[in-house]
Amino acid sequence: MSENKQNIPIAKPWIGEAEAEAARRAIISGWVTQGPEVFGFEQDFAAYVGAKSACAVSNCTTALHLALLAVGVQPGDEVITVSHSYIATANSIRYCGAIPVFVDIEPQTYNINPILIEDAISDRTRALLVVHQMGMPCDLKAILDIAHSHNLPVIEDAACAIGSEILWDGQWEKIGKPRGDIACFSFHPRKLITTGDGGMLTTNNPEWDKQFRLWRQHSMSVPDTVRHAAKQVIFESYPTLGYNYRMTDIQAAVGREQLKRLPELLQHRRYLAQRYQENLADIPGLKLPTEAVWARSNWQSYCVRLPEGCDQLQVMQVMLDAGISTRRGVMCTHREPAYDHETWSCGIAQQKCDCERGQCDRLLESEQAQDRTILLPLFHQMTEQEQDYVVQVLKIACQP
Ligand SMILES: *Cc1c(COP(=O)(O)O)cnc(C)c1O
Repeated sequence: MSENKQNIPIAKPWIGEAEAEAARRAIISGWVTQGPEVFGFEQDFAAYVGAKSACAVSNCTTALHLALLAVGVQPGDEVITVSHSYIATANSIRYCGAIPVFVDIEPQTYNINPILIEDAISDRTRALLVVHQMGMPCDLKAILDIAHSHNLPVIEDAACAIGSEILWDGQWEKIGKPRGDIACFSFHPRKLITTGDGGMLTTNNPEWDKQFRLWRQHSMSVPDTVRHAAKQVIFESYPTLGYNYRMTDIQAAVGREQLKRLPELLQHRRYLAQRYQENLADIPGLKLPTEAVWARSNWQSYCVRLPEGCDQLQVMQVMLDAGISTRRGVMCTHREPAYDHETWSCGIAQQKCDCERGQCDRLLESEQAQDRTILLPLFHQMTEQEQDYVVQVLKIACQP
C-alpha cells in the first residue's frame, strides 16, 4: 500500500479568496469590531436559519454561557445534558456555578435519549441543554414535550449543526429556527463554516436578544455604533456584570462569505455521506450512522461503530499508517480529570451520583460510543478517489 500513500485529513475548512477579500474590506474600512459586518452577519444568519434574531459572540462556549444565564441558571441549579459531547457543553453549565446532570445517549443517533430525561428531573432542575451531536438533529419534539410538561426551558447546542434540518409539521426547518428557546452555533474550523473562532445565538425572544447584546460588551449601556453616530456627548454606564464575548468585524466579514458557500457545501457533504453509506455497507458488523425520517444531518462528522472484536486504536493506527487521519468517537466529559466527583451527577434525582470517574453505570452507551466508534475523513474538497481509498483501507483494517 505504500506507493499508494496519501495524506487525507479528518476535516478541512472550505475558505479562500472571497474570505480574504472580505477580511481586507473590514480592515481597510477602519471599523474592526462590533460594527457593520457583525450586524450584517447577524442579519444574514437569522434569515438563513429562520430566527427572529441572531447575536454574534466570540465562540459557541460563550454563546452557551449567555444562553444559560438568560434562562435563569444560577449557582446550585441543575442542568440536564449529555456527557457524550465536546467538553464545552458541560463547562458552560459550570461557568454558571450549576451542576451538569448527565443523561445517556441513544446508540444509533449518539444524541440524548429522551426516554431517560424524565428520571433526571429534580426540583433543582433549571434547564435542558441538548446537543445536535455531529450535526445529527436530536429528537426535539420528544424533548420539548417533556420540557414543557415541567415548564423547563430548552437550549440547543447546535455548535455542529449549521444547515441540519428537522421535519416540523410537514416542513423541513433549519436547526436554529427556534423550537427550543435558544440555539447556539460555533464557527470553529472543525465545524462546517468558520470565522477562525466565533459563535452565534438565535432566539425569537427579543428580551433575551437584547440581554445577549449587553452581556457580550460588559453590559455597557451605549453601543459603540450609537455613541459614534451621536451628535451630543453621551456617557455610557455599566448597570450589571457583563463579559467580553465580542466577535470582530474581520471575523464577521469572513462569516458572511462562508454563509454563501453553505448550500453548496451541504449538498456535497450529503453526497459524500451517501457514498460512504453505499460503499461501507458490506463491511460485516460495521454500524453506519442513520438519519431518522424527520432528521437531515449536515454530516459535520461521519461516525462509524466498529465491528465486535475490532480494536479502535489498532484500526486508527492502520489508517494513519496509510496516510488517513481519523478520530475516536466523541468524548465523554465525565471521564475527564476536570470532572471529579463533586462537579456532576448522572441523574439519580435528589441523590449524589456515586459512580467512579471514567465509569458510570448509567452512561454506558456514552462510554461505548467513545470507545467503539471512529470518525472518518469528510470535507468539501475530498475527491471520490480519496474516499474510495478510505473505504478500501477501512475494509482491511476491520478484518479480524
Ligand atoms: C465545538 C463544540 C462546542 C464549542 O464551540 P466553540 O466555538 O469552540 O466554543 C460546543 N459544543 C459542541 C457540541 C461542539 O462540538
